Amino acid sequence: MDPRRLACLEAMGIPTWSRRADRVLPGAPHPVVGPGESSGEVAEMEPASSADASEAMSWEALEARVSSCTRCALHAGRTRTVFGVGHRRADWLIIGEAPGAEEDRRGEPFVGRAGKLLDAMLAALGYARDQVYIANVVKCRPPENRDPRPEEAASCAPYLDRQIELLAPQVILAVGRVAAQRLLGSDSPVGRLRGSVHRYGPTGIPLVVTWHPAYLLRRPEAKADAWRDLVLAASAAGGGRA
Ligand code: URA
Repeated sequence: MDPRRLACLEAMGIPTWSRRADRVLPGAPHPVVGPGESSGEVAEMEPASSADASEAMSWEALEARVSSCTRCALHAGRTRTVFGVGHRRADWLIIGEAPGAEEDRRGEPFVGRAGKLLDAMLAALGYARDQVYIANVVKCRPPENRDPRPEEAASCAPYLDRQIELLAPQVILAVGRVAAQRLLGSDSPVGRLRGSVHRYGPTGIPLVVTWHPAYLLRRPEAKADAWRDLVLAASAAGGGRA
């Protein structure tokens, strides 16, 4: 194993017997597409039907639409919307839950402590952050870092759906309960959803569920599970669509 990957695995606390992702050959680096910004102004909430047109939007139009979204109450407390970041033709789409405080300040997903761990996990597979695409179920920060409510996830659903459609990734990695349950339409816990390759949407995109990095920070002993999930996702990505 090359020394950089070994160092990444050690940073994650992964035993170095977990080497099966050696065969993953990520592509060359790509330019990062920056996150959207919002005005931060508080506005009236708009009707739910107003996001329906996002179905046909380009990346640019969609990002602009999200940056001015007032479809749910979360818009009132945000500093910035957190649209998503990475390469818009990436094979891997990582989907988390919702922005936290740091993400809300910077307008970029997974930039806090959990994000550092996610970066280390991706690096262990050989991927830089700008070689994947990272987004959340919900684009605005829920107060007190609470879980997004079902109606908030539903308000953002057309945006995430369109991101998935535009990206058409080879694999989706759903990190944590909120992303896994939203994408699979399930109420099963992560522990039951991880460990197998699910299929998402009409084209059957392989979808793998793993623990949220924030959970891994609290429960480092689960990192070996997470590594197995990443290796499973890498092999599902290599296998293409169903
Ligand atoms: N947790 C998430 O699920 N998403 C982020 O962007 C940051 C933390």
